[in-house]
Amino acid sequence: MTYINCRCIPEGGVPMSERPPVRNSGTVSKDDFGREVTVKGWVQDVRNLGGISFVILRDRFGIIQIAMPKKKTPPEVFDILTNLPRESVVAVEGTAKESTQAKMGYEVVPNAVEVLSRAASPLPLGVADKVGVEIETRYNNRYLDLRKPEIRAVFEIKSLALDLIDAFLKEKDFIEVFTPKIVASGAEGGATLFPVKYFDKEAYLAQSPQLYKQILMSTGLDQVYEIAPAFRAEPSDTIRHVSEFISFDGEMAFIESQRDVLDLIEGCMQAMIEGVIDRGQKSLELVGAQVNLPRVPYPVLTYSDAVGILASEGMEIQEGEDLGTEGEKLLGEVMSSRGNEMYWIIEYPEASKPFYIMEKDGTPFSHSFDLDYNGQEIASGGQREHRHGRLVERMRKKGLDPSSFEFYLNAFAYGMPPHGGWGLGLERLIQKMLGLANIREAILFPRDRNRLTP
Ligand code: ATP
Ligand code: MG
Repeated sequence: MTYINCRCIPEGGVPMSERPPVRNSGTVSKDDFGREVTVKGWVQDVRNLGGISFVILRDRFGIIQIAMPKKKTPPEVFDILTNLPRESVVAVEGTAKESTQAKMGYEVVPNAVEVLSRAASPLPLGVADKVGVEIETRYNNRYLDLRKPEIRAVFEIKSLALDLIDAFLKEKDFIEVFTPKIVASGAEGGATLFPVKYFDKEAYLAQSPQLYKQILMSTGLDQVYEIAPAFRAEPSDTIRHVSEFISFDGEMAFIESQRDVLDLIEGCMQAMIEGVIDRGQKSLELVGAQVNLPRVPYPVLTYSDAVGILASEGMEIQEGEDLGTEGEKLLGEVMSSRGNEMYWIIEYPEASKPFYIMEKDGTPFSHSFDLDYNGQEIASGGQREHRHGRLVERMRKKGLDPSSFEFYLNAFAYGMPPHGGWGLGLERLIQKMLGLANIREAILFPRDRNRLTP
C-alpha cells in the first residue's frame, strides 16, 4: 500500500467525499461529542502503547489527540496512523469524545484517514522538541521553524498590531498611500542604498518613502501613512538592523509644531499596545511576552538632557555625536528605573539630521525627534523644512546637489504647507514590545548581508 496521498476508507467507514464537518483544534465543541468530525493537520507525535496508540495532530490553533484503541479502530487506519513519520499531513475522520486525559479535553477516535502529504525523515529541524537549535539552522529551515506555535505567534501579533494601527489612523482621517520603491535618489544618505539596474539607468531601492510623502503634503492628501518595505544596505551585523524592513511612515500637513506629530504617534502606540494586550492574549502567552502599556504622556528629553543623563552615569558623549547603541541602552535603563518604557528624545543637533529636517534657528539643534522603546530607537521624525529657499540651502550644506532632487524640490515651489512626520520600524517595535532578542524574530524571511534565501 502506498501512503502518499493514499485514501484509506475501511469497510463501514465514512467515504472522504462525504466528509463530516471539518473542525480544528479551536472549534471542536461539546456539541461535537459523540458526532463524526474531520480534523486535519500535522502529525506532531505518535505514541504506540500496544493496546492503544495516540497521534498528536497539530493545526494552527493547537493540538488534537487522536486516540486509537486497537480493538475499536479499523486495522488499516491504526496501521497507517501509527507508522506515519512526524510532520506528515493528514485528514482524519472519527468520533469526537470528551476526554479528561487529553490536553484539549477531548479526543477523536478515527475511522478513516487520508494521508495528504507524507513527510521525509529525519527532519532537518525538530518541531516539538525543546532542544536549542542554532539560529542559522532555524532560518535555513524556516518552514519547519514556523510550525512552532511560539515562533508563529509573533506574526499573529504583528498582524494584529497592523490592524490596530490602521484602525487608529483611519479614525484620525489619515489616508493610506503607496509610494514607489524603485527610486532615483535616496533621502537617508548614500551609504545604505541598494543600486538596481533600471533599464539603461541606475536606480535604487527606496530607503524610506520620505521624499514622496513630503511631496504629497503639497497636494491636499494632507495626512497620509504608508506601511511598506524599506531597503537599507546595512553593512554591520546587529540585532536591530536588517536589509529589508517594514517602515510605518506618516506625514501631516498644517502642524503647529512637531508636538502635533508626537501626540499622534503617542495615541497610536497606546491604542496599538492596549489592543494587543486585550486581543492578543493567546499569542502573547505562547511567545511568553509580558507587555506593559507605557505610561503617558511619554517623557520628553532633549538631546542635551540625554547627553547629561549619560554623563551622570559615566558615559561621555561628545556634544553633537550620536548617542550610539550603548548610549541608547544605558538611557533605556535609566528611563525604565523611572518607570518609563517609551520616551522621546528631541532637538538633535541639526548636523546629525538629514537635509529635510527643520533647523531650530539660533541654535545648533533641530526640530527633530526619536522615539525610544526600552533602550532602542524605534522611530525618527520631526518638523520638515517646507521653505523652498531654506531647503535648498540645507541640501547644499549637506553636500547634496539640489538638481538631482528637482522632482522633490518642485513640490516646494508652488505652495507647500508646514508639515512633519515620522518613520517607525515595525519590526523594531514588535521586537521591543515582545522582548525578542533579535529583530529577525519579527521577520518571516529576514534579509541581511549573509542571507538572501529562503
Ligand atoms: P539606527 O540609527 O538605529 O540605525 P536610523 O536612525 O538610521 O536607525 P532612520 O533613518 O531614522 O533609522 O529610520 C527610521 C526607523 O526605521 C528607525 O527608527 C528604525 O525603527 C527603522 N530602521 C531603520 N533602519 C533599519 C534597519 N536597517 N532595520 C530595521 N529597521 C530599521
Ligand atoms: Mg533614526
